[in-house]
Amino acid sequence: MKLTITHLYPAELNIYGDWGNIITLRKRLKWRGDTVEYQPIHIGDDYDFTQTDIVFGGGGQDKGQIAAADDLAERAPNIHRAVEEGVVFLTVCGTFQLFGNSFTTATGSELPGVGVFDAETAGSQERLTGNMAIQTRWGELVGFENHGGKTYLSAGQSALGRVVYGNGNNGEDRFEGAIDKNVFGTYLHGPLLPKNPHFTDELLKRAIERRGGDTALEPLDDSLAERAVEVAKQRPQ
Ligand code: GLN
Repeated sequence: MKLTITHLYPAELNIYGDWGNIITLRKRLKWRGDTVEYQPIHIGDDYDFTQTDIVFGGGGQDKGQIAAADDLAERAPNIHRAVEEGVVFLTVCGTFQLFGNSFTTATGSELPGVGVFDAETAGSQERLTGNMAIQTRWGELVGFENHGGKTYLSAGQSALGRVVYGNGNNGEDRFEGAIDKNVFGTYLHGPLLPKNPHFTDELLKRAIERRGGDTALEPLDDSLAERAVEVAKQRPQ
């Protein structure tokens, strides 16, 4: 099967190892014999998100978000259509914030959001930084967070998981990330996917299912990643 991976704003939103998420998606598909097309999307590019399979958007400085926000907001109707059609989105930190309703930076810039997640983010003077583990319906996910923005989900918005240790969305309500249809938002960098291969496979299964493919994925040797997670969990929190 051939799948397309779309990378949103690799120049502006791509920090703390986020690039590793793209590598992991590609590798796990290729190891199982699938063909992968990589499609970076830059500010101003003409693009129809309903045509792709998996979209990844990473984190960045507020500066990178300010640069990308208007371009992203213009794409909102097309992104909503892709979401309705079951395209898989993984949005980390800065992109997660921009997939909510709005992000007001600590210096008062009000950035429009795509409004996929019913959530608001506001910058703060405090930084929420460190190793994090969360409990999700796909098991535990580990990673690293570093953000000044605090995200608050509206009452009807599902979180991706609950914080086991770390801060998550705001350091207060123990919620971490958000989920809606095949769209995932999280503050987990690290990068997320190489450390959490079972979660990577969940994303791949959803993308393959949308194309009518076989979702019984061939098992891969994840023993090194599993050992790395055990080590990460022993680290100071
Ligand atoms: N600039 C945003 C914040 O600090 C996002 C940070 C990030 O993507 N790691 O909240």
